[in-house]
Amino acid sequence: MNKIINKADKVIAKTYNRFPIVITKGKGCTLWDNHGRSYTDFVAGIAVCNLGHAHPGVSKALSDQASALVHVSNLYYTVPQVELASWLVENSFADRVFFCNSGAEANEAAIKLARKYHNDNGDFSRNRIIAMGKSFHGRTMATLSATGQDKIRHGFEPLLEGFDFVEFNDIKSLQNKIGASTCAVLIEPIQGEGGVRCPDPEYLKTVRQICNDTGVLLIFDEIQTGMGRTGVLFAHEHFGIEPDIMTLAKALANGLPIGAMLAKEDIAEAFGPGSHASTFGGTPIITAASLEVVKTLVEEKIIDNCREVGAYFKEKLFWLKNRHESILDVRGLGLLLGIKLKTEGAPVVTKCMEKGFLINCIQENILRFIPPLIISKDEIDSLVVCLDEIL
Ligand SMILES: *Cc1c(COP(=O)(O)O)cnc(C)c1O
Repeated sequence: MNKIINKADKVIAKTYNRFPIVITKGKGCTLWDNHGRSYTDFVAGIAVCNLGHAHPGVSKALSDQASALVHVSNLYYTVPQVELASWLVENSFADRVFFCNSGAEANEAAIKLARKYHNDNGDFSRNRIIAMGKSFHGRTMATLSATGQDKIRHGFEPLLEGFDFVEFNDIKSLQNKIGASTCAVLIEPIQGEGGVRCPDPEYLKTVRQICNDTGVLLIFDEIQTGMGRTGVLFAHEHFGIEPDIMTLAKALANGLPIGAMLAKEDIAEAFGPGSHASTFGGTPIITAASLEVVKTLVEEKIIDNCREVGAYFKEKLFWLKNRHESILDVRGLGLLLGIKLKTEGAPVVTKCMEKGFLINCIQENILRFIPPLIISKDEIDSLVVCLDEIL
């Protein structure tokens, strides 16, 4: 077998069931393993590498910044961090940005900010967060306590207190749970890990209204759905509403570790000096790369491509569904797409890999397609032919 894989199996924590390939190189939507085999990438580092691999602009921004300044503490100002925060503020509902290093950390910041906001207002008992069934918010103690999936929580008890759960896309369930001790509602506008689950068109609008009526903050976890993935910059734009707080990570720097928590001014005020911090958060090397990523999204009309090829891809998936009884459902928006199978998805993923395509399976029987947003119709056609054969 492969020497690297043998070595890895001895020294790396066993937290992932890895596929037996060693990836050494990437370009655009193609990856190569250490035997020179190529794969078309419909995983993109799990919705991370939206601009594809080895993007020349991002590589240049990284190397330029690496030779100028990699890191200083947030005790000082740095140019890339300020520029990136300005871009995010100009292109979202938010007024201020807190930078950190991952999605889980961004959600931690959001949970802390929501509690601090009510605390500063003297509402000391408003400290409970309502999250959704089948949600995913991360693997730290607070974010797994906010995650509505037993398989992620099990074995780590006692979990953190102060989290309540309701059914996603079910207004009644939210109305029954929300109360005087509710601090915030935490939702992914489209559930990613939970199975590419889209809400009914009016659901999030109604949630927004309920939050307004009850003085509860609305937090959108757009870690997976943000940065153009669903065909608009942030998925909540599809639904004509805005949150009070939003979290980002995954695609924000196209593969470099970054997280961000964005909030409106009156809420962001609750984070004063000393209330929250991160050593690496917003460090120049990462924010310089991220700034290049967001500029490229606009300049190269990446989100327009996502919308166009995403619609094309979804049509093709419906075409497959018509041909194969094993497909129960086609779901998703933009290039966050999924098909629900009658049977387990894992064998399909393995066969796709053997034929040179990387795809992903979640919740046992849902195949998820989250390619770079620069994917072409030709590449989609090739995958669809491959799936047609396998199914
Ligand atoms: C991936 C993900 C997270 C966790 O992000 P990490 O960077 O792995 O901590 C949180 N929420 C959602 C919706 C995600 O998709």
